[in-house]
Amino acid sequence: MSKALVCSCEDVTVEDIRHAVAKGFRDVESVKRFTGFGTGVCQGKSCLSAVGALLAREKAQKPEGIVPFTPRPPLYPTELSLLASFPVDESKPPVGGVPQELDTFPATLRPEGAVPTRARVVIVGGGVLGLALAYNLSLRGETDVVVLERGYLCAGASGRNGGGVRMQWGTAANIELAKRSIELMGRFARDLGINVWLRQGGYLFMAKTKAVAERLERNAALHNKHGVPTRMLTLDEARDVVPGLSLEGAQAVSYNPEDGVIFPWPFLWGYANACRKAGIQVETYTRVTGFELSDGLVRKVKTDRGDISCDTVVLASGAWSPEVAKLAGVSLPNEPHRHEILSTEPLKPFLGPLVSVLDSGLYFSQSMRGEIVGGMGDPLEPAGLNMGSTLRFVSRFARALTEQLPNLGHVKVLRQWAGCYDVTPDNSPILGRTPGLENLLQLSGFVGHGFMMAPAVAERMAQWMTTGASDELFTRFNLRRFQEGKLEREDMIIG
Ligand SMILES: Cc1cc2nc3c(=O)[nH]c(=O)nc-3n(C[C@H](O)[C@H](O)[C@H](O)COP(=O)(O)OP(=O)(O)OC[C@H]3O[C@@H](n4cnc5c(N)ncnc54)[C@H](O)[C@@H]3O)c2cc1C
Repeated sequence: MSKALVCSCEDVTVEDIRHAVAKGFRDVESVKRFTGFGTGVCQGKSCLSAVGALLAREKAQKPEGIVPFTPRPPLYPTELSLLASFPVDESKPPVGGVPQELDTFPATLRPEGAVPTRARVVIVGGGVLGLALAYNLSLRGETDVVVLERGYLCAGASGRNGGGVRMQWGTAANIELAKRSIELMGRFARDLGINVWLRQGGYLFMAKTKAVAERLERNAALHNKHGVPTRMLTLDEARDVVPGLSLEGAQAVSYNPEDGVIFPWPFLWGYANACRKAGIQVETYTRVTGFELSDGLVRKVKTDRGDISCDTVVLASGAWSPEVAKLAGVSLPNEPHRHEILSTEPLKPFLGPLVSVLDSGLYFSQSMRGEIVGGMGDPLEPAGLNMGSTLRFVSRFARALTEQLPNLGHVKVLRQWAGCYDVTPDNSPILGRTPGLENLLQLSGFVGHGFMMAPAVAERMAQWMTTGASDELFTRFNLRRFQEGKLEREDMIIG
C-alpha cells in the first residue's frame, strides 16, 4: 500500500499528521513533537510548508496560528570536527544566542472560551512535574484539577532535556526517588499506553580530578547500601563498556548498569492524555497572570482566559517559578540557568551508557533513534531565562566530545537547542507548603534532574495531598530551610 509522505527524513505521513490533529495537537510546535516531523536531516526544510498547508486544509488552526517552528542551528548538518575548530574566548561569558525563544506565544493560539471558574486544585505549569502530579492525583480520585500551561506541552525544560535517568546520586533521598522513578518508567507503556523508550544502558561517570574521584568512590558505597549496583571500574573495564572511549586523565570511573535514558516527549503526551481521560483539564496556551490572596490563602488564580477560584494551587513552573511566585508576593531562591544541548545524525547502536565527565559537565548518550545527544555546562553562563543557542557551546562541546570519542569527528550535528535548569542554592528541590500562604504548594527547583525525579515525587506528593499524612519529603525540602540554614546539598550535579 502506498503512503503519502510529508516528512521523508522521519517517515511521517499525511495520516500521521491527521492522527495528531485528531488527538488535539493542532499547532505546528505540538504536531512536530507528536509526530517527529522536521526533526531529521532536513530539519523541516522540505516538510514544514507541507504540514502548514495540511493543517490549514484540515482547519486545525486559524490561519494566523499556523506559524513555522523555530529553526534550529546549525541549520545544515555540520561535522563535529569542523565545529570543534571554531575558536572560543573562554574569558568571556556567553551572550544571546540564536534563536531567542519568544517569551510570549501568539495570542491566536489561545483556546477560545474561558477557563473553568472553579477547581479544587490548580497546577501552574504543564511540564513533567505538573502533569505527573495531576495524573497521580487522578489515580487517587482527585480529578477536580486544572493544569495551566502558557505554551505548548514540551515548551519548558521537560521538552528540552537529555533524557538521562540515573540512581547514582549523592544523597539517600535522591537515590531512593530515582530508583522508584525508574521502576515507574519501566511500567509507563503498560500503565499509560505510550512508549517512552526507556533503555537501561547504564551511566558511566568519569572523574579527572582527585576531589571528584573521591566523590565517586564515596557515593558508590552509598549506592550499594541502597541496593544500587554501582561499581568502580578499572580503566580497562571502562574501555570494555565503551569501546573507543579515551580515558586520558581519568582518575576514577563509576558505573551503574541499571541507569539509562528515555525519550522525554512521549512522557508529557502520556500524562496529559491520561489526565484528560480522567476528566482533568489541561489548558495549553493559557498564562497565569496573577493571584488573588486573602487571610493567608490563595483564593483565585488569574489567567489570560479568566479567573479560577480554588482550594489549592501548585507552583510547578520550573525555571519560571520565581517569576510566578512573585505574582503571589513569594520570593524563591531559585535561579534559571541556560543549558545547551545538541543532537547528531543517527548512527548504528554502539554506545551503551550515558557517559559524563563530572569535572567539566560533559555528558553524551545514544538515543534509541541512534542520535548522539549531549550537552556541557558552562561555568561562565550568567543566570537568566535565556533559551538561545550559541556557536560557543557547540564548539566547546564538539571539542570535548571528540576528545573522549575521537572516532566521532566526522559525525554531523543536526540541531542544537537550549533550556533552563531551575537551580536552588543546595541543588535540591523546593517542595510542600509555602510559609505564610498555606494553600500554595511548591514543586520546583529540580535543577538538571527533574525529569527523572518526576514520577516518584509526583506519586509521593499526590499521596501527601490527598491523605494529609505527613511525609518527610515535604518538610525536609520545604522553602523554610533556606531561612533556617538547613540546606540539603546534592553534589552529583552534571554541568
Ligand atoms: C539541557 C537540559 C538537560 C537536562 N537533562 C536532564 C536529564 O538528563 N535528566 C533529567 O532528569 N532532567 C534533565 N533536565 C532537567 C529537567 O528537564 C527539568 O528538571 C524538568 O523538566 C523540570 O520540569 P518542570 O515541570 O518543573 O518544568 P518545565 O518543564 O520547564 O515546565 C514548567 C512549565 O511552566 C510553564 N509556565 C511558566 N510560566 C507560566 C505561567 N505564568 N503560566 C502558565 N504556565 C507557565 C512553562 O511554559 C513550562 O512549560 C535537563 C534540563 C535541561 C535544560
